[in-house]
Amino acid sequence: MSGLCPRCGAATLFEAPARIAMSCEQCALSLAELERGARLAGLVTILVAAILISMAMAVDIYLSPPFWLQVVVWAPLTMAVVIGILRLYKTALLYRQYEVQAEQEQGEQ
Ligand SMILES: [Zn+2]
Repeated sequence: MSGLCPRCGAATLFEAPARIAMSCEQCALSLAELERGARLAGLVTILVAAILISMAMAVDIYLSPPFWLQVVVWAPLTMAVVIGILRLYKTALLYRQYEVQAEQEQGEQ
């Protein structure tokens, strides 16, 4: 979640809040290569957005707050949740890929 490199532990994983850097600035580990499986990230985003939208609709039905209040609350909340989940998802995926790769390298030796 804090974006640490799986090899050297430096906080170099994210170059933007939800974008993985091409490679680690500290140890030059190729992060872009490890992130190949992250194509599903788009799907995860849509799923999260759908859940948040249904939550927003439920709030609208039961509490019926004014529209401006909903925009003020939901817009940043959606952004924060989507970025948070994307970071979590990408980090988990990257670490898994790194472990798989490390195992493969050990097998070759
Ligand atoms: Zn590193």
